[in-house]
Amino acid sequence: MSRLDLIDAPSPVFNERALPIDMIVLHYTGMRTGAAALAKLRDAAPRRGDYAADMPAEWAEGDPNDALGAASAHYLVEEDGRIFAVVPEDKRAWHAGKSWWAGQSDVNSLSIGVEIVNGGHDFGLPDYPPAQIASVIALVKDIAARHAIAPWRIVGHSDIAPGRKLDPGEHFPWTQLEAEGAALGRAGARANDAETARVLHAPGDGGADVQRLQERLEAWGYGLAASGGYDERTQACVEAFQRRWSAGDDSEFRFGVWTGRDEALLSAAFENAQAAARAAQEAGAPYACEPPKDPG
Ligand SMILES: [Zn+2]
Repeated sequence: MSRLDLIDAPSPVFNERALPIDMIVLHYTGMRTGAAALAKLRDAAPRRGDYAADMPAEWAEGDPNDALGAASAHYLVEEDGRIFAVVPEDKRAWHAGKSWWAGQSDVNSLSIGVEIVNGGHDFGLPDYPPAQIASVIALVKDIAARHAIAPWRIVGHSDIAPGRKLDPGEHFPWTQLEAEGAALGRAGARANDAETARVLHAPGDGGADVQRLQERLEAWGYGLAASGGYDERTQACVEAFQRRWSAGDDSEFRFGVWTGRDEALLSAAFENAQAAARAAQEAGAPYACEPPKDPG
């Protein structure tokens, strides 16, 4: 880790991993300041009153002595780019909560969690400063290289907990990470045109086409059981997909509605994952995990 300047900020909030590392989960802190977020990640017995001033106003209404669930992450990246090392990578940090990705529910055991200081949806969804994103990219690339983590296994918290979590949010610049090789890219996705603007599926729809969409999203990794009905869960997974793939670009996507643009991005994601896996194999440095297959 010599290329990265890490600041030690050890937390007692972790336990032992039950699975080998093969994912990276990106979060925003969702608190008023980075200092408060870091303090909470290092607190084994947090109480509501200790953090009320740095949480959304309605949050302060509870009993200040309420015990909060302890939470942690392996790293925290400040707005100015400083990186704090909070939990050792070989330990299981507590950042994912109730989650699911590609058949696995114990995401904490198989992932490295990176908290990125940002107020999030409760504090105006601020943009991420360039210095911070540069550090996130350097950190993610370093982690991925050391653990042979495949680029399609670098996801947001909202991907593994659709409908429950929104972070790192639609202002997170995934396309910058893609351009720097710190996340799977979208090369080959059809550019925006009349076809990509077309609505393919919307809430309330049903039938074989919706079932096919659900099977594809599930194959990509989302926790979704194909029912053939475009239900609330499907909508939540579609929104999570859009936070990762459509937000921040110039498309006129509509949250929760599946358009030709989303379809093109999902197809490109499957193809690019397969291509990345082949390239890594040929380079003699295969990834720890097989790429997802498009059920078509
Ligand atoms: Zn999170």
